[in-house]
Amino acid sequence: MDAVSASLDDLPLRSDLRGQMPYGAPQAPLPVALNVNENTHPVPEEVADDILDSVAHALREVNRYPDREFTALREGFADYLGHGLTADHIWAGNGSNEVLQHLLQAFGGPGRTAFGFAPTYSMYPLLTRGTGAEYVSGTRGVDYTLSAESAAEQIADAAPDVTFLCAPNNPTGTPLGVDVIEAVYDATDGIVIVDEAYQEFAPRDSRSALTLLPGRERLVVSRTMSKAFAFAGARVGYLAADPALIDALRLVRLPYHLSALTQAAATAALRHAPEMLAMVDEIVGQRDRISATLDALGYHPYESWTNFVLFSDVDDPAATWQALYEQGVLIRDIGLPRSLRVTAGTEAESTAFLDALASLGPGGAHGVTEERG
Ligand SMILES: *Cc1c(COP(=O)(O)O)cnc(C)c1O
Repeated sequence: MDAVSASLDDLPLRSDLRGQMPYGAPQAPLPVALNVNENTHPVPEEVADDILDSVAHALREVNRYPDREFTALREGFADYLGHGLTADHIWAGNGSNEVLQHLLQAFGGPGRTAFGFAPTYSMYPLLTRGTGAEYVSGTRGVDYTLSAESAAEQIADAAPDVTFLCAPNNPTGTPLGVDVIEAVYDATDGIVIVDEAYQEFAPRDSRSALTLLPGRERLVVSRTMSKAFAFAGARVGYLAADPALIDALRLVRLPYHLSALTQAAATAALRHAPEMLAMVDEIVGQRDRISATLDALGYHPYESWTNFVLFSDVDDPAATWQALYEQGVLIRDIGLPRSLRVTAGTEAESTAFLDALASLGPGGAHGVTEERG
């Protein structure tokens, strides 16, 4: 085709989508990729074999539509989560992003608002606006923490239809107490979504929002297999909530939205939850080593209950990101002042990052100031 291709401006695009930017974490084939909080450990060999058998089995019936209710998978998630949950309390989708989209399709949409405490997961505004709802950002306190009083006050003022609480928070790693979740729930008549994408990396004795579900029919706890389960490429996310709320999601999902292959793979992986999660402790160890070393190098690492570390006191984040890139290490510049975010990888990957950063000297790399004549 040699005709000049059209631009977005030439298309009859929805006016509320004009000027928006798509999600765009760089996907570069670098030796050390620590930029999107994946679990960098591969699925263990024996588990991979069992998953493959299940997928092969499902493939023989792939001429038929899959179980629309993905019953076996919902039972698997209920067993995994515990807390007395049954399949009736569970929903799943192609990544927790799709699960969040279902929630917004049911409870957001035109004329409604969704709310998150900035900085938080960059997909909340994109998913919200995708349904035609408005996204409102609240604020956090010192070191990106959020107190029950401040959160409840902001929610009472904004009166959103949907509130996102990312616990622990991405991109900052910040823990969120259940007292904050309770206070927010009491301050709104809307849906409260607690996104526990990183819960498995939190201290073992920390309380999950799952413990708050009984008697709170507007509360949703979402999880993903992308991080702790090393299953990002399979695209499987899920949530737990009151069975009535699950019925609301049936109104907006596409029929048969979870393929038979996805259901088979995820159900098999869940049967091996302990082996799949075996690397979590190792990753938590690397996370804590990264934080300690960053501190020793003169940076400010924020407290993290996740598989990544946000750190500040970077003189020139763009120049440092670029200098690491040139050494084959990909991390994330999430646009926070003087800050960068790195995922905890294997021991070797984490060392490669720390060595590369140390080689840049105090404060990281500095941009070349252009000479002006
Ligand atoms: C990674 C992440 C997700 C998970 O996304 P998937 O679609 O399940 O891969 C959800 N929420 C947050 C805050 C995340 O960081």
